[in-house]
Amino acid sequence: MPGSSPPPEDPHHDELLFHAFAAAMPHIVWTSAGGGAASVFNPAWHAFTGLPTQLPGAAAWLVALHPDEVTAATSAWEEARATEAQFERELRLRRADGVYRWHHIRCVPVKTPEGSVRWLGSATDIHERKTQEVRFELVVEGAGIGIWFCDLPVTTVTCNATYRQLYGLPAEALVTADVLFRAIHPDDLARANEAVRRAVEDQEPYLLDFRVVIGEGEKAQVRWLQATGRVFYDAHGRPERFDGITRDITAQRQLEESLRRTLIEKDESLRTLEVINATGQSLAAELQLEKLVQGVTDAATRLSKASFGAFFYNVLNEQGQSYMLYTLSGVPRETFDKFPMPRATRVFEPTFKGEGIIRSDDITRDPRYGHNPPYQGMPPGHLPVRSYLAVPVKSRSGEVLGGLFFGHPVPGVFTEREERLVAGLAAQAAVAMDNARLFQRAQEAITSRDTFLSIASHELRTPITSMKMQTQYMRKRIANNDPSAFLPERVTRLVEQTERSIGRLSRLVEDMLDISRIAIGRLNMQFERVELSALTREVVERFGPQLGEAGHTLELHLTPGLVGRWDRDRLEQVLANLLTNALKYAPGAALKVTTRTLGTSAILEVEDRGPGIAPKDQHRIFERFERLVDASQISGLGLGLHISKHIVEAHGGTIRVHSALGEGASFVVELPISGPSGQG
Ligand code: ADP
Repeated sequence: MPGSSPPPEDPHHDELLFHAFAAAMPHIVWTSAGGGAASVFNPAWHAFTGLPTQLPGAAAWLVALHPDEVTAATSAWEEARATEAQFERELRLRRADGVYRWHHIRCVPVKTPEGSVRWLGSATDIHERKTQEVRFELVVEGAGIGIWFCDLPVTTVTCNATYRQLYGLPAEALVTADVLFRAIHPDDLARANEAVRRAVEDQEPYLLDFRVVIGEGEKAQVRWLQATGRVFYDAHGRPERFDGITRDITAQRQLEESLRRTLIEKDESLRTLEVINATGQSLAAELQLEKLVQGVTDAATRLSKASFGAFFYNVLNEQGQSYMLYTLSGVPRETFDKFPMPRATRVFEPTFKGEGIIRSDDITRDPRYGHNPPYQGMPPGHLPVRSYLAVPVKSRSGEVLGGLFFGHPVPGVFTEREERLVAGLAAQAAVAMDNARLFQRAQEAITSRDTFLSIASHELRTPITSMKMQTQYMRKRIANNDPSAFLPERVTRLVEQTERSIGRLSRLVEDMLDISRIAIGRLNMQFERVELSALTREVVERFGPQLGEAGHTLELHLTPGLVGRWDRDRLEQVLANLLTNALKYAPGAALKVTTRTLGTSAILEVEDRGPGIAPKDQHRIFERFERLVDASQISGLGLGLHISKHIVEAHGGTIRVHSALGEGASFVVELPISGPSGQG
C-alpha cells in the first residue's frame, strides 16, 4: 500500500535482498518505475511467459495479456498510475506455449527516499479456482438459480446476476431488503414477512413460494418465485447471516394451475355427462308432460349453474287453444306467483318466437331490457337477475314448444359451455315433449275409440231391438192364427217401422265407413255439374214428413241457378245431416234454409231457432266423436258434422256455425263454384 512500508536504510542492500527474494519466489513479481522505464521481472516470469526478465512495461504486457483484456487493463493501470493507487485485477496471462491462465495481478506503489514512486507487482496463478468459479457461475446461471447472501440484520444483499434478473433489477443496482420487499406482490407480503421472521426467530428452514410484480402499470408482469434459505447463528446463538437461493417457478405454477383446471374441468365434464346421461334416459322414458318438463328444468338448471331456472311451455286445451304453463327450479313457486306470465317483450320475444338463444353477462345492461311498463327495469321483489340465458325449445317440425330461462344474481356466469349444454338439453327435451304429446294423443285416441265403440254398439242395438220386437210380436200373432196380424194397415206400419230401422242402421254403417275412409284419406268424390238450389229443394222435400211430424215451420230462400262443380251425393249427405241435427236438437223450432251466392262461392245455410251452441263448444262439435249431449238423451255417434266438414273441405269450401246459447244455431256451408282448386 502506498506509504505503508518504512523507507529502507541501505537502498543497495535492499535491492539485492529484493532480487534474491524475487528469484526465490514461485510467483511472478516485478518492479517498475512506471512510465516508459523498463520493468524488472523475476525468473518465474520468464519461466511462465518465456519472455526476458527486463522489458519495457507496456511492451511486456501487450504480449503477455489476453487480447480481450488489454484495453480495459491498460486504462485501469493508467488510472492507478495517475492517482498512485493500488492496481488489482484478475487477468489472463499467456504462457510460453500459448495457453492463457488466470492470474491475480496486484501492483502497489512505493515511495522512494528520493520522492519518486516505484511499483511492486505480483501475479498469482489462480487459474484452477477461477475456472471452477466460472464453471460454477455458469451452472448456477444455466439453472436459473439466484444466489443471495446477507448479514443480519439485513441492509444490503450480495447476489448473483440471476437473482437480480428474477426481481427485474438492473445489473448494477444496489440490492437492499427494501428493494426486494417492494417487489413482492401485496397479497404475498404478509406471508413473506412471516416466513422471514420464523426463519430468523424460530430457526425454521426458510422456504417460501411468492409472487413478485415486475414493471408497472399495464406492462406489469407477475412472476412466481421460490426462495430456500437458512439463517446462520454465532456462538451465542445470535442470528448472523441469512443465505439462500431463489428460482423462478412461474412455469411450474402455470403448469400446476392448468393441470388443476384440467382436472376440475374433467371432473365437471364427468358430472355433466352423468347428468346428461341420467336426464337423457329419464326424458326418453317419461311420457307424462308435467314430470318431463320438471325434469328438464331441474337438469338444465343444474347444468347451467344457474341460481334458478324456469321452463315456460305451451299446451293445448280441449278447445285446441294454446296456453302457457311453467315449471321452476331453484326457487319456490311463490316467488313467481306475483308476476304475470312473460309477455312477448323485447327480452322474451326472441325466445318465444324461437329465433335463437339469448345469453347475456348482464341483462340489466342489455338494450332490450326494461322497456316494458309497469316494470321499467327490475320490478320490486323480482329475482335479482344479472346473468341471463334463454333457450327456445323447438319441435322437429319447427314449432316452438316453449322456452327455458335461467338467471343468476352474479354477472358473467353463463359461458359458451353452459349455452351449449342447455341447447343440447333443449333439443332432447323437444324430442321427449313431442313423444309425450304423441303418447297423449294416442291415449286420447284410444279413449275416444272405446267411447265410440260403446256408443256405436248402443246406437246399433236400438234399431235392431225395435226390429226384433216387431218380428217377435208378429210371430206370436201368426202362431196364434190371429187374422189381425195380416190387416193391411198393420203390415204397412210394420214395413214402415222396419224401413226406418234399416235406414237408421245403414246411415250408422255409412257414417262409420266414411270415418274410416276419412282416416285413411280415401273419401272419394265425384265432381259433376250440380244445381245447389234444386238439390236443396229435393232433400228438404224428402224431409218434409219428418219436419211436419216434429212441428217445424220451414222457410226456404233459394236462389235459382246456383250451378257448380260438386259431388251431388256428398252435398246431399251434408244437408241431410244438418236437417237431421235440426230435427234432433231443435225439434219443433222454426227452421230456415237458404242458398245464395257470395263472390265466387255458393252459400248453403241451415238456421234453426233451437237451444244453440255455446261459443266454447263450437270448435269441438266438428271433431270426431264429439257430442254436447248424452247418448241417453239424443242418439248419435258424434260423426255427422265431422264428416260434413271433410266433405265441404274436399270441395275447397268451409263450414262454420254461428250461435249462442238459447239463440238457435246457423250452419253456413261455403262452396267455391268452380269446385276444389285444380278441378277447373
Ligand atoms: P251427432 O248428431 O251424431 O251427435 P254431429 O257431429 O252431427 O253428431 O253433431 C255433433 C254435436 O253437435 C251434437 O251431438 C250436438 O251436441 C251438437 N249439435 C249439432 N247440431 C246442433 C244444432 N242444430 N243445435 C244444437 N246442437 C247441435
